Amino acid sequence: MTKTNWWCCCPATFLLAVFIIALGLPTTQVSSAIAQSSAEFDIVLANGRVMDPESNLDAIRNVGIREGKIAAISTRPLRGRTMIDAKGLVVAPGFIDLHSHGQDDENYRYKARDGVTTALEMELGVSPVAPWYAQRENKSLINFGATVGHIPAKMAVMKDTGTFLPRDNAMNRKATPDEIRQVTDLIKKGLDEGALGIGFGINYVPTTTRAEIFDLFALAAERGVANYVHIRDSGAVEPGSGVGALQEVLADAAGTGASLHVVHITSVCLRQTAICLSMIEGAARRGLDVTTEAYPYTATQTRLESAIYDEGWQEKFGITFKDLQWVATGERLTAETFARYRKEGGSVIGHSIPEDISRLAVGNPRVMVASDGLIENRQGHPRGAGSFARVLGVYVREQKALSLMDAIRKMTLLPAQRLEKVVPAMRSKGRVKVGSDADLTIFDPLTVIDRATFEQPALYSEGIRHVLVAGVFVVRDEKIVEGVKPGKGIRRTNH
Ligand SMILES: [Zn+2]
Repeated sequence: MTKTNWWCCCPATFLLAVFIIALGLPTTQVSSAIAQSSAEFDIVLANGRVMDPESNLDAIRNVGIREGKIAAISTRPLRGRTMIDAKGLVVAPGFIDLHSHGQDDENYRYKARDGVTTALEMELGVSPVAPWYAQRENKSLINFGATVGHIPAKMAVMKDTGTFLPRDNAMNRKATPDEIRQVTDLIKKGLDEGALGIGFGINYVPTTTRAEIFDLFALAAERGVANYVHIRDSGAVEPGSGVGALQEVLADAAGTGASLHVVHITSVCLRQTAICLSMIEGAARRGLDVTTEAYPYTATQTRLESAIYDEGWQEKFGITFKDLQWVATGERLTAETFARYRKEGGSVIGHSIPEDISRLAVGNPRVMVASDGLIENRQGHPRGAGSFARVLGVYVREQKALSLMDAIRKMTLLPAQRLEKVVPAMRSKGRVKVGSDADLTIFDPLTVIDRATFEQPALYSEGIRHVLVAGVFVVRDEKIVEGVKPGKGIRRTNH
């Protein structure tokens, strides 16, 4: 907004007042109409510490929002119909979570209170794609989106009886050539419907051949989308190490030209995370489009009946029964309860990631923050509610493992850039910049912290003061705003 603009809105205000008076409206309505028309912006965030990871702006500014977009960033005072005093608070781009399994109202609330404005299901993905988007459109607190998933496609074609993850046919049996063709057709259909990429969890479908994965990477390359992959193995035991599994997908990316994003690097590479990060950095330096992410916790969570806990898990992960925690009750397992619960099926937490490994990945400026979160009926892993505030409170403020700007970049700009080549909507997210979407997270850097624990995972983060999605408050004064649904489906539009 320039000075010239400001002067030219005055006569308009005057004319509006004359017009309203001529209509004979009560004076209170007249003055409110005048106040509204003279406000330059819908919302002004005043005197906040604006941090933009793209321009590296880190300074006190006023931010004006109009029609869902950032319309001004200025040292000059701005006037809005809603004025928010952001003194002492950081004004950051809304956080983008590339790995968010919880895609319902319950989970979107935890996400919003953790500062997340866009939650994407990129690892497992979904199939079919179109109905998944339709179910959420105009009904969601925050933005949402998904890849088309190799696992859900394979479960449908092979008639697996598992719900969230495979538990029999897709896990134990090798797909026939005809089944592989059907899975590929479902993936192509999902891409035609705007899916954000292809999602893989090779570890959950271990009978999947390396040729099948290579062919699907070639499809991704042909369509220009990235592959989001939970790699084939985890841990250090050979054969079948995390390092070997990472080599498989790096080779497939090199051999096909496909882009690759390796999910939760710490939970697959464990004590070999440093070498895995070197492999990814080296591949990227030599021209491969490869990225990675981590959640800031020392434990994993998955289904106990899945292939992850097939024979040999203790040696692989360097843990035993007492390191496993049954989500439904919070109890630590024994050989007996392990056998019983594996038959029943359910979520289990595995305390297998050393703290120094977690710090190494969270502290690395190129490793994105992504939650892998899922809260179901207030149960789950605390990462579903606290990942982003935990990085800001524990790893930035308390441990000084990384700078605040680097942390914000890992939560906003890097995930936006991962997607923006094929998802134009992401070019206006992940930044505090004039013209960008007003998806903004306003937090107190001195108090921001996660509250969710392994015993009580369903606790909201603290210190995330306000959250806006497309210029609409979804969190205001640390409370969810009820009844608003500004979240939009994020899709590929140039397929
Ligand atoms: Zn995973």
